Amino acid sequence: MINAILLGPPAAGKGSVAKLLSKHYHLPHISTGDMFREAIEAKTPVGILAASYIDKGNLVPDDVTIALVEERLSQPDCQHGFMFDGFPRTIVQADALEQLLKKIKRPINTVLEFECNRPELIRRITGRRICSECGTPYHIDTMKPKKEGVCDHDGAPLLTRKDDNVEAFTVRLKAYDELTAPLIGYYQAKGLITQFDGVKATVDLFEDVKAFLDTL
Ligand code: AMP
Repeated sequence: MINAILLGPPAAGKGSVAKLLSKHYHLPHISTGDMFREAIEAKTPVGILAASYIDKGNLVPDDVTIALVEERLSQPDCQHGFMFDGFPRTIVQADALEQLLKKIKRPINTVLEFECNRPELIRRITGRRICSECGTPYHIDTMKPKKEGVCDHDGAPLLTRKDDNVEAFTVRLKAYDELTAPLIGYYQAKGLITQFDGVKATVDLFEDVKAFLDTL
């Protein structure tokens, strides 16, 4: 049984590892960041509201984010487990998640915390490129696509996320330190945290996490 949260600063490897884990365990990868980006692309009311926060690096308000997750959790693919990536990001969200999961009798059973030093996070963010179609991440120096500027999987163009610049990233790190990092203590108190070295390459990190999840 895997009802997991991936916790850690932006660019610590959560999204890349969650994609691999989701494939390996056939579990939904619930990334609120991806959901907001889809809503922005589709120009929905939630997307228009969220963009004004995301572009500057600020968190989207808790009520909007929680409503999005509540809707997602009601879908049938969440009945056999899930992996949250980028949610919860505040104590208010964590409390709301606990209530939502009580209803479906699937409490969080593990929180995977990815640690990574600041200079490495900044290096990753400034070189990050994302496939405009499937969201696969690349890096201009260390994770190059086979053909420059296009995704290996679907040939779609690679883009730089609007919030992957030093100004917005500084705001995102501050939001992480002030609002999200307290969740480490919150889940430690519940005995749910396991730490992983987010500096490692994605494939190695994936192996570490998989070895741990297989013991659950
Ligand atoms: P991410 O792709 O997880 O880095 O998320 C990108 C941006 O979406 C964040 O910087 C926030 O502005 C917003 N966002 C994603 N998840 C949340 C959340 N759980 N709470 C509030 N804002 C979020």
